[in-house]
Amino acid sequence: MRKTSAERRVLIVGAGAAGLSAALQLQRRGFSVTVIEESSPGSGASYGNSGMLVADTAIPTFQPGMIWKVPGWLADPLGPLTVKAAYLPRALPWLWRYLRLGTRANVLETAEALRPLHRYTLDGWRDNIGDEAMARLTRQDGQVYLWERMKAPPARSLEDEVRARFGIESDALGSDRIRQYFPGISREVSHGLLIPGNGHTVNPRGLVGALTETFRREGDGALLHERALRIWREGDRWTVMTNLGNHGGEAVVVAAGAWSGRLLAPLGVAIPLETERGYHVMLSNPSVRLGMPILNKSRYFGMSSMSEGLRVSGTVEIAGLDAPPTLARARVLTAQAKRLFPDLTFDEEAYWMGHRPSIPDGLPAIGEIPGQPGLYACFGHGHSGMTAAPASGRLLAELMAGERPTIDPAAYSPARFS
Ligand SMILES: Cc1cc2nc3c(=O)[nH]c(=O)nc-3n(C[C@H](O)[C@H](O)[C@H](O)COP(=O)(O)OP(=O)(O)OC[C@H]3O[C@@H](n4cnc5c(N)ncnc54)[C@H](O)[C@@H]3O)c2cc1C
Repeated sequence: MRKTSAERRVLIVGAGAAGLSAALQLQRRGFSVTVIEESSPGSGASYGNSGMLVADTAIPTFQPGMIWKVPGWLADPLGPLTVKAAYLPRALPWLWRYLRLGTRANVLETAEALRPLHRYTLDGWRDNIGDEAMARLTRQDGQVYLWERMKAPPARSLEDEVRARFGIESDALGSDRIRQYFPGISREVSHGLLIPGNGHTVNPRGLVGALTETFRREGDGALLHERALRIWREGDRWTVMTNLGNHGGEAVVVAAGAWSGRLLAPLGVAIPLETERGYHVMLSNPSVRLGMPILNKSRYFGMSSMSEGLRVSGTVEIAGLDAPPTLARARVLTAQAKRLFPDLTFDEEAYWMGHRPSIPDGLPAIGEIPGQPGLYACFGHGHSGMTAAPASGRLLAELMAGERPTIDPAAYSPARFS
């Protein structure tokens, strides 16, 4: 006889935005949930991201024509994309799949699938953490894209087409309005685009912290500070072996971000997951305070005012999970910030590197893994996991509870790799 959710013990590996969103949603459906996290909650990619909650952006990072830009980017060690030479043979199949997807049809299809994950973000975070934490930790002031040294406004792009298709509001900004929004900004900035429906968090770690608190407050779910080493099934029971013991349950959710592939490989599960390593520099006591986050589309970096200072983030480095951070890639972000705001001053700069968990088709894996009854995926959110986590967590919980899902799960199914 099928067990009710109250009788089902679920083990979740990973307490980032994805794992905790799923944990809370499962707990609310009566599951008994144990989260296993080797570090502290929200200390992976969910810690150091740019914090943008892009409700009104639904565009994958691959683009038509991108393949021709790659050689130039790779030739510049501090450009927006780099691949460590020693890691290239391992990364090549992933990169090839990724770059091949840069066609108009694929971009539009992926945008269709990203839209329901992204548009729910602000409502979803509110539903998860409540009004008080939402007011304290997030803003819905919009986001501005910037371009430098362009004689004419950027040509109509696929992104414009996606916005038109979904009825997303945007507002072209000339240099005068850009300077009103961002006093002191460089004269190099020639054009901008305001996306009023986007939001951001002023403290990504705090946001995941609020999720953790809600999870603890609302139920008797456990959060274990342990490292999952191996996962296996005997009959209809799953075991997660950690550095401190064994934990059993009827289901396991792998939400270990970029490390998920390592946990699944011994089970013969091969979902193409790569880490797109990204960096930030946090500038304390900055002279510049941004009314809303900036995405510099000419030089591919983001800037956001957070409670601890000005965060400048970006770059993609393909170098695997184990290579040490490349400090020059973090340092270049300070130079980018100073170029954008020539009079910028600050006290100290603190560098960070994190692992975006990325699947080449630009979509996460959410749902049961084929051939492994009771084993679920909730990872692969790439560049937009802070945005998509509430919808992903809710979808996974709906699927596990046997509810009719709020959004069509097909595009995110792990079965697409079978
Ligand atoms: C520079 C940068 C900027 C970004 N900007 C944005 C942005 O503006 N907006 C946006 O929406 N997204 C952004 N992202 C992407 C976003 O941060 C990620 O998609 C998201 O945080 C992924 O969440 P996650 O829970 O899947 O992974 P993580 O947050 O990495 O969590 C995975 C957790 O699993 C744990 N874990 C791993 N292995 C084990 C194990 N064996 N046992 C126990 N625990 C384990 C880790 O310790 C970690 O806490 C950015 C990312 C980067 C790097």
